[in-house]
Amino acid sequence: MSIKSNIEHIREKIDEAAGASGRDGNDVLLVAVTKLHSPDEINEAIDAGITDIGENKVQEILDKYDKVKPVNWHLIGHLQTNKVKYVIDKVSMIHSVDSVHLAKEINKRAAQHDITMDVLIQVNVAGEESKFGAEVSDVDGIIDEICLNYPNIRIRGIMCIAPFFDDPEMARECFAAAKEIYDSYVDDDREAIDFKYLSMGMTGDFPVAISEGSNLVRVGTAIFGMRDYR
Ligand SMILES: *Cc1c(COP(=O)(O)O)cnc(C)c1O
Repeated sequence: MSIKSNIEHIREKIDEAAGASGRDGNDVLLVAVTKLHSPDEINEAIDAGITDIGENKVQEILDKYDKVKPVNWHLIGHLQTNKVKYVIDKVSMIHSVDSVHLAKEINKRAAQHDITMDVLIQVNVAGEESKFGAEVSDVDGIIDEICLNYPNIRIRGIMCIAPFFDDPEMARECFAAAKEIYDSYVDDDREAIDFKYLSMGMTGDFPVAISEGSNLVRVGTAIFGMRDYR
């Protein structure tokens, strides 16, 4: 299967899942997750219509940035504060804001570049101990702090990663919990809040995520095949 036909197949499944819950598949943003894939493969995906790509490591963004055609870069992995400065002028959205400490650094670097950075608050809805993401009970506090003190950040929504299950139906509850948090901010009219994205769903579970309200899916394996973690 080519990258192009994989993308077409995924778009069909997105349309199907969105249609089943009375929505339009065109309202779901497909972010192609390109970690461990080469600039050539990424450019092939861009030629096939991909407008947005996701990387989980700062170093990979820097290594590939000049070799990839113009595209929107999303940072979807854990971000250390000391690396914010390297990507602040390269990514269009950071999905992994999970602390005030990180928000503070993003705000500082965004201000230096005179930009407003779009971010999502990553929530650890499953409460997994080893996982990144803010605890559900901390989300309101982080958002309040950004609204009060960090004018160079715009909060665009919520991101979550469900635990891996053999049966994706098992992830439904997590997705519903993230949707509930998302909905509680949709009508919030504070300056820094402009909710548009509920980022959830990967290769194994994106149809379930969409049926629970996701409008941004992060798909890697189903587009590029298995990653080689050598
Ligand atoms: C790798 C990754 C994905 C994509 O996973 P696939 O199962 O390959 O689709 C999505 N989101 C995050 C945060 C990732 O790190």
